[in-house]
Amino acid sequence: MVVSYSAEPATDFSNEENRKAFKAALEQVKKDFGSKRPLIIGGEHIETEDQFTSYNPSNKKEAVGHVSKATPRHIDAAMQAAEEAFESWSEWTPHQRAELFMRVAAIIRRRKLEFSALMVYEGGKPWVEADGDTNEGIDFIEYYARSMMELADGKPTLDREGEHNHYFYQPMGPGVTISPWNFPFAIMTGTTAAPAIAGNTVLLKPAEDTPLISYKLMEVLEEAGLPKGVVNFVTGDPAEIGDYMVDHPKTHFITFTGSKATGLRINERASVVREDQGQTFLKRVVTEMGGKDTIIVDKDADLDLAADSIVSSAFGFQGQKCSAGSRAIIHEDVYDQVLNKSIELTKELSVGDPVNDTYMGPVISKKQFDKIKEYIDIGKEEGELKIGGETDDSTGYFINPTIFADLDPKARIMQEEIFGPVVAFAKAKDFDELLEIANNTVYGLTGSVITNTREHWHLACRKFNVGNLYLNRGCTAAVVGYHPFGGFKLSGTDQKTGSPDYMLNFLEQKVVSEML
Ligand code: NAD
Repeated sequence: MVVSYSAEPATDFSNEENRKAFKAALEQVKKDFGSKRPLIIGGEHIETEDQFTSYNPSNKKEAVGHVSKATPRHIDAAMQAAEEAFESWSEWTPHQRAELFMRVAAIIRRRKLEFSALMVYEGGKPWVEADGDTNEGIDFIEYYARSMMELADGKPTLDREGEHNHYFYQPMGPGVTISPWNFPFAIMTGTTAAPAIAGNTVLLKPAEDTPLISYKLMEVLEEAGLPKGVVNFVTGDPAEIGDYMVDHPKTHFITFTGSKATGLRINERASVVREDQGQTFLKRVVTEMGGKDTIIVDKDADLDLAADSIVSSAFGFQGQKCSAGSRAIIHEDVYDQVLNKSIELTKELSVGDPVNDTYMGPVISKKQFDKIKEYIDIGKEEGELKIGGETDDSTGYFINPTIFADLDPKARIMQEEIFGPVVAFAKAKDFDELLEIANNTVYGLTGSVITNTREHWHLACRKFNVGNLYLNRGCTAAVVGYHPFGGFKLSGTDQKTGSPDYMLNFLEQKVVSEML
């Protein structure tokens, strides 16, 4: 257990001083709008002619900034830089690497408001969500740094007469981090920091919708004195460089977070060994993919708690969390009450430009907006629209919080990840059926049980087939170190970010036996 770790506290935005400071950060960050951000390969800043633009999803014409576009040639150069940097970086002791990253975390903590403010613009994150994202990034770094220090000497093994054994960990080589837009700072930072702290070197390819916040991490890594080439920044079009990075014969590991479709593709491609191109190892793959997360409500549950958990899990950050509660399965005896309470709570939610501290902001992009709209149309066919359903993309990509009722458990909006502010309600006759429906998708990421029957909770602990299960609370908001995070089934490889085991994904275990 990493004992000395405690999670970064949330900023209290009810405090007027904090509000003022955050408004000032929002103003400050805006002054950088339109900046051009280069690739960073072996420490060299490379501005390409071909660039792409990161837009503000609340104001789709507003360019937050521009980023260079890597080609396969840049990936080759970055891989070479990473390979060269690995030679010396892997010679740093685990403590030395961890200490450098503790400095990285400290710098981010000092610049916290600036980071969160940028996510309000680039990611459409409400204040609280942006703050949580930055805090989680800090948490990941510190947790993994401490975790590495604990692994520094390896683990005890048995000795016997005339023989001493040593079991220890060593880094693997260069690898690839591919991150999503929905936790553009936390996940990108955690999945970059962990392999680097382990002594590997990284090619970081952040999501194309949120590259600018990743560039801020690069600024901090440079300021903290990370040797050149340890983390290389290669923004670009996934269609052009995604497969190339995964297939590259020098890629030792891939840590991916994103959709099921991309994760499955990466998993398959990474299994191919390109011996003809000099690949002499199997690639390690960490894939954290989608979810169709469910809250089940028992007949003896606290119904206010149930409604509150459903609404906050469904609509926090516009439902764009892999852990978002997009299905509510309710015991038939309390179904109408929970549904009505949820509708009433939903009426209170504000939707708008998150600069103004709204509860919900826009969805990330036109692509997501169109996809969610399509699912709302499907929902109208499959169930009864109870509230929401309105969409507005005249300035940004806004979708009102939407509740559908009376769904068949096998309906498409009960099965497929929508990744937007849409929750589907269904009914069950008893606790067994609640569980059966909860388990009826290809996903197994998070879930919640709202009940006051201890035996039902025990049953859910055994049978509710998700990586992260919660009792009497919502199914989002896992905290690094407290709730190691990752899913079963087609939600991913379940390597649990923020867990005491996570660093092992990026380390080789070696045994040295000495005859005395
Ligand atoms: P996505 O799969 O579209 O993109 C994720 C990343 O993969 C991006 O950086 C993208 O550029 C890259 N990519 C796309 N095609 C690629 C290819 N062929 N090769 C290599 N890289 C490629 O996902 P998204 O829309 O950015 O993210 C949303 C998804 O992420 C949702 O499904 C959500 O559930 C999931 N997610 C899961 C977790 C988790 O911990 N399980 C956490 C956050 C998000």
